[in-house]
Amino acid sequence: MSRIFYIFIICFSFFKLSSQTTDSEDFRIKSYFNRDSIFSLRGKVEDGLLKLWFAYPEFIKGVREDALIWKDNTIMLYRDTFCEKIKDTMLVYPDLDDMMTYEYDAGMFYTPDSNCIAGRVRYEPFFRKMYGNTKEEVLGKLHKMAWVPKIYVQNIYITKVNNIHKKLQKVSNELQKLPKEFHKYLKNIGGTFNWRPIKNTNGTRMSLHSFAIAIDISTKHGKYWDWVKDMDGKFEYQNEIPIEIVQIFEKHGFIWGGRWHNFDTMHFEYRPELLLDWGPILK
Ligand SMILES: [Zn+2]
Repeated sequence: MSRIFYIFIICFSFFKLSSQTTDSEDFRIKSYFNRDSIFSLRGKVEDGLLKLWFAYPEFIKGVREDALIWKDNTIMLYRDTFCEKIKDTMLVYPDLDDMMTYEYDAGMFYTPDSNCIAGRVRYEPFFRKMYGNTKEEVLGKLHKMAWVPKIYVQNIYITKVNNIHKKLQKVSNELQKLPKEFHKYLKNIGGTFNWRPIKNTNGTRMSLHSFAIAIDISTKHGKYWDWVKDMDGKFEYQNEIPIEIVQIFEKHGFIWGGRWHNFDTMHFEYRPELLLDWGPILK
C-alpha cells in the first residue's frame, strides 16, 4: 500500500516538475556572487534559497523565485508539488525546501528532541551534481591529508570541492591544540570517503560519506542510535564527544550528527547552508 502511494507521489511530482512553466522572476546576476545582491533579495526569495546561494558560491550563480541557478545554467527547482510531507516522507523523498526547513542550532550542547533532523534531510541530486555522480567521479576529486598528525598518524581522504580539504585541515589544526584529555576522541577515526548507502535504507539514500564530505571521528567513543535501540526500536540519547570538539567543526562549516534525534555522535559533514546566521554576516 505505502509503496504504491510513494510511487504515485514520485510520478505526480515528476510530471509537475517537467511541465513547470518558467514565468517566475529571475534574480540571476551578471557578476557572480555579489553578497549585496543576495541580501537585497531577502523577503522576495525564500531564505533557504539565499542560504544555498551564499553557502556554495563556486557552484550557484543566482536564484529564481522558485529555483537555484547553477553556473552551468542548470535550473534546480526549490520545491516539488507534494506539500504536506511528514518527517519520514521528507527523509525519503526530499526537495531543496525540505532540506532547508529544519533549523540547525549550533554552539551550546543540548539533547536533541524528535524535531532535530536538520541535516538528515538531503536532496541527493544537489550533492551528486556538486561532488560527483559516481564513485569514480568522487575519487577523482580526493585529497590525501594527515589527520591530527601531532597527536598520532592517520591519513584520510577528503574532497577538494568547495575547498573542503582546506577547511578540514583548519579543523585538524585547531583540534590538535586542545588539551591532552581531548586526544582520545580524535584517534582511531571511523573514516571519511566511502561510496555507500545509509544503513537500513534499502540502498535508496546515499550516505554523505559517498561524496567525501563527511568524517567519523572516534568509533570507540561514538554513539549511534541504531546500536543502542531496544527490541521495540526505542532508544535514549547518549554522547561522549565533548562540545569543544563539535564547536571547532561547526566553526568551519561542518554539522554534527550528535544534534540529531537519531544520533550519530562520531559523524560530521560539510553543510555550511545550515550554519549561516544572517545576523553576524550582515554586520
Ligand atoms: Zn558518518
